[in-house]
Amino acid sequence: MSYIRAWFEDENVLAFFTDRFGGVSSGVYESLNVSSNVGDDIRNIVQNRQIIADDNGFLLENLVYMKQIHSNNVKVINNSFINEIKECDGVITSKQKIPLMTMAADCAPILIYDKEKKVISAIHSGRVGTKKEIVLSALELFVKNYGSKVGNILVAVGASIGKCCYEIGEEIAKEMDKRYIEKRDNTLYLDIKSMIKDQLLQFGIKEKNMQISPICTCCDKNYFSYRRGGKCGRFCGIIMLRS
Ligand SMILES: [Zn+2]
Repeated sequence: MSYIRAWFEDENVLAFFTDRFGGVSSGVYESLNVSSNVGDDIRNIVQNRQIIADDNGFLLENLVYMKQIHSNNVKVINNSFINEIKECDGVITSKQKIPLMTMAADCAPILIYDKEKKVISAIHSGRVGTKKEIVLSALELFVKNYGSKVGNILVAVGASIGKCCYEIGEEIAKEMDKRYIEKRDNTLYLDIKSMIKDQLLQFGIKEKNMQISPICTCCDKNYFSYRRGGKCGRFCGIIMLRS
């Protein structure tokens, strides 16, 4: 197992991504599956989340996670009383000691941090959510709800499926901006990482304030990948204000 620290992690913010190893799940969920929506035994999921909490110094009972639905809904979290937030793909908070989790297996997990206003967000941005520009929904909340200045917002995008592997059919290709479609040997491939990058740039996030993982979850077997294996577990990104 290895935790991939977000590039902006510091004494004020905990921020990292997991890979698929170091947990107790077996079979297609081997082994650090964090999602309770993919058919794995709930006891394994709780144990896996506990391992991550213990290794990284947060309380599992405070963990906020989402019933992710490929939307552009981002919900504001003001306490950790409810752990599972329904029907959204993004959560945002300025409260300390509330870890926010996003789960993925090809979709992009995104962690966002305003270092001045001390506001954090965790986002799930797959093909559908990226087309709906969920990352922009979150960034707008930073500015409107919390008064963030765009220049202070830092973004880390974790491992996700690359254009090397993300084959799409004609129907989906028709709905997407041509700039992000690559044709190789008569097959179409979608570039989600570039879509997300352009959305961030469009909002005014500087290149120096973003880092997008080059890792393709489908190529790299250290990650769960729905495209590679079908039924599988989920890895995660977690962010929390320490103080
Ligand atoms: Zn790939």
